Amino acid sequence: MGEDVQHLEAGSARIYRLGGALVSAHLLVDDDSMILVDTGLVRVADDLWRLLREIGRSPREMTAILLTHGHLDHTGGASRIQRETDVTVWVHPADREHVAGRVQYRGWARGCGLLESVGRFALRFSPPEVTDELGDGQRLPWWGGLRVVHLPGHTPGHCGFFCERTGWLLSGDVFASYRWSVHLPPHVLNREQDGVRASLRQVAAMDLSGVIPSHYDVLEPELHVRRLRELTKRSG
Ligand SMILES: [Zn+2]
Ligand SMILES: [Zn+2]
Repeated sequence: MGEDVQHLEAGSARIYRLGGALVSAHLLVDDDSMILVDTGLVRVADDLWRLLREIGRSPREMTAILLTHGHLDHTGGASRIQRETDVTVWVHPADREHVAGRVQYRGWARGCGLLESVGRFALRFSPPEVTDELGDGQRLPWWGGLRVVHLPGHTPGHCGFFCERTGWLLSGDVFASYRWSVHLPPHVLNREQDGVRASLRQVAAMDLSGVIPSHYDVLEPELHVRRLRELTKRSG
């Protein structure tokens, strides 16, 4: 891994991408804190330990795991990482049950529920213990200040994290951003379809210098904010 791990620098602060184009988690590191935003699929834990060794940091320095929402591809590695570091795990209260694997899907989203139960079984998933709750507008003091932005729709408790230091938004599943396709999350994955569009518009109206989604091709926040604005225009 080493040089292969994509990362960006903002002074002494860094953001590392874990996982890959299918789904990414992000490690935010500075002198005072080490925050993991989402935990990808189960394998991310191995990548994380390797990365920490390479940058000379200890798993014990982990400050918190912030979950954008309860979907399995964002929470997969959380319980293992929590077990080995005793780190706090934060999620919006509306997604607490989802993280625990207890959620009633309706309509289109039932397909997603089925996928998730199969995935939980196949990956021998055990949920992390949610220790803390996120609230809209809440400011977390880490990485120069992270502001919670509640962006419901995809799931009721879906949140993004605005980085005051860089003006970037870690946008979770508000949209997916690839060169070959920039799109809203597919119907079957959304709990509330109207909220998905409203959240996209809300993000497009924010004063952002960059966006880092969870499903994307290259780690270039300025590129994703441009794509997000084009998508917003297109979807009216
Ligand atoms: Zn999702
Ligand atoms: Zn996702």
